[in-house]
Amino acid sequence: MKKDYLRYFPKSSYYPNQFEAMDAIHEALLKKQVVLFEGACGTGKTLSALAPALHIAKTEKKTVVIATNVHQQMAQFIEEAREIKKQTDIKVIVLKGKMLMCPKPDMDYDTCSLLRDNTYKLIEQEKDIWQLKNEIKSVKDKMKRVREPGLIELQRELSLEFDKEERHLHEQRKNSCDMLLQLLKGDNEEFRTWLFSGVRTPEEVAEWAMEHNSCGYELLKRFMKEADLLICNYHHFLDEEIRTNVIGWMDKSLQDIIAIFDEAHNIESAARSHSSMKLSEFTINRALDEVPA
Ligand code: SF4
Repeated sequence: MKKDYLRYFPKSSYYPNQFEAMDAIHEALLKKQVVLFEGACGTGKTLSALAPALHIAKTEKKTVVIATNVHQQMAQFIEEAREIKKQTDIKVIVLKGKMLMCPKPDMDYDTCSLLRDNTYKLIEQEKDIWQLKNEIKSVKDKMKRVREPGLIELQRELSLEFDKEERHLHEQRKNSCDMLLQLLKGDNEEFRTWLFSGVRTPEEVAEWAMEHNSCGYELLKRFMKEADLLICNYHHFLDEEIRTNVIGWMDKSLQDIIAIFDEAHNIESAARSHSSMKLSEFTINRALDEVPA
């Protein structure tokens, strides 16, 4: 019997046991079970998991997330997603760390967050100043039609406020991210078409964004809710804060995700390191200084 999930299986033949593996994974996913799947290198494990997962995700309106902590594996997932896409169109997003994709040299996470917050504030301020400009114009128009004693004073007050806001805006521009600003002002359709017409690596996205003076990471975030498949690092799903953000960008809850962890024997140590708090010697010494003798 032809299995529906085979539309996501791009090869013309199977490795030994691959078909049985796909069937078992398909059955388990239908029953919402956890599957532990072990096999030697080069036996087609990734496709065996991806084909049934993508099929179930499509029918149950879910998203497949495949996570790895090995750089070469991510490259392999991208190749396999490209093969699947040639057979059945899927929307794929490949995510790497934000700072690895930032086109600004020597950027760090905290500075980026500050620039990002300021950019959102800037957009709001630009709206306020535009509104102020309109108010000044309507007062001036009214002054041409009627003679009201308070109008001159009102225009003067509004103009002073406008000058103040403009100075403020000028300062805010210096402390914001021009690339994010460009993105927030556009509809980004050109990026969306380009992104989903292939399977793009984070490096390709960063290059596209650089050429278009935009931010690749923020662009990916915007279109994550459309993805059928997200390829990412372990930390995107093992770190609680990052996972909450990623799922939010996907507009999903955890129940709507089919997660595939590559090299799952590494999960325990990776999860432990993500849940561990780091205290530097400097912090401990400062804390000790505060303890009364
Ligand atoms: S380009 Fe993107 S990642 Fe870089 S600072 Fe701006 S918002 Fe942050």
